[in-house]
Amino acid sequence: MKVIKLRDGKERSLRKRHPWVFEGSIASGRADAGETVRVESHTGEFLAWGAYSPASSIRVRAWSFDAAERIDASFFGRRIARAVAVRARLPIESDAMRLVHGEADGLPGLVVDRYGDTLCAQFTAAGVERWKGAIADALLEVTGLRRLYERSDASVRELEGLAPVTGWLRGAPDDAEDTEITIREHGWRLTVDVARGHKTGYYLDQRDSRKLFADSVRHFGVQRVLNCYSYTGGFSIAALAGGAAQVTSVDSSGPALERASAHVALNGFDVARHTVVDADVNATLRRFIDEGRRFDAIVLDPPKFAATAGQAERAARAYKDINRLAFGLLEPGGLLFTFSCSGGVSADLFHKIVAGAGLDAGIDGQIHARTGAAPDHPMTVTFPEGEYLKGLVIVKQIA
Ligand code: SAH
Repeated sequence: MKVIKLRDGKERSLRKRHPWVFEGSIASGRADAGETVRVESHTGEFLAWGAYSPASSIRVRAWSFDAAERIDASFFGRRIARAVAVRARLPIESDAMRLVHGEADGLPGLVVDRYGDTLCAQFTAAGVERWKGAIADALLEVTGLRRLYERSDASVRELEGLAPVTGWLRGAPDDAEDTEITIREHGWRLTVDVARGHKTGYYLDQRDSRKLFADSVRHFGVQRVLNCYSYTGGFSIAALAGGAAQVTSVDSSGPALERASAHVALNGFDVARHTVVDADVNATLRRFIDEGRRFDAIVLDPPKFAATAGQAERAARAYKDINRLAFGLLEPGGLLFTFSCSGGVSADLFHKIVAGAGLDAGIDGQIHARTGAAPDHPMTVTFPEGEYLKGLVIVKQIA
């Protein structure tokens, strides 16, 4: 067993059960990509078992803080069984959910989503890459499912020195090109293409916010909805289900909008109630202001503007801009569902940015709810980096 010895004082973060060891904390030792190492303090005390990643600045990701634990195929079986058991107790109104959420489930670098009878996994660190076969077997064994698609094409793999890999890992259907699955979320039917969709196919983390949106649209009697960064129209279907008369979905991805339109028909809604705009959101918001358009509810669910805290300032300007424009397009008493999935922007900072946007627009509002990722995307108390998605539900003040 190879030993990684830390510098004096650098054992603190592992002692707090934070799972990462940065390159600069290591005094001695090296190993192959993904190899299991024993991490010790400078005095030789056991701290953790972990996976070594020679190319990454996160040089070791901890598997376990228990000296007696063996990192073998059955270890992965146990971790996966635990992750799946947690989800079985959650009130998830869907046959699509995240089963494994990386560090928060004790499996750094592994994401596994379930879409109906199909699993879709993303391996983004050297450790899980090395154990891929055992992980794939354990996933099928624990869930009783047969199909597993791999979507290891996230750009973060580059930081680990890993090339992109996609395709069926287990149980390819007769037609391997058949990668579309129909899921049921809150009673709505949605299609997901695990090969071509974003991430593993769909944004499962917003499931609870889509439900809250549908309920709010109904409760407030919302008629005109603007869904910005709509992707395949999850919030648009929520709006139609909630009784909105007219929904506009804006996204810069043509294929995502095509799927959004298909979802309207698939759920039996009159297609005349839905309009798509294939364009940049910021430019579209400005155009709508020029045209004097008004909406009763607006969703702003942009992509990650800041991956790290270092990019937060530039991201803050981008968030402020779209929120200011959205405030202007809302009718008094209208609803704003505004989100940030930037790990580098804290919930506190996001609140300040949105407050600044309201101030610039000369508009006040009341915060009716704060939202986060659905609970199948958990955070652990020991890994604050796990918080990424936050949202505010704001009601624009009535004049
Ligand atoms: N709300 C969605 C998820 C949104 S993901 C859901 O519930 O499923 C972010 C989306 O923003 C992606 O679909 C991406 O294509 C789109 N996007 C990224 N930059 C954009 C831009 N500048 N203008 C419009 N859409 C953009």
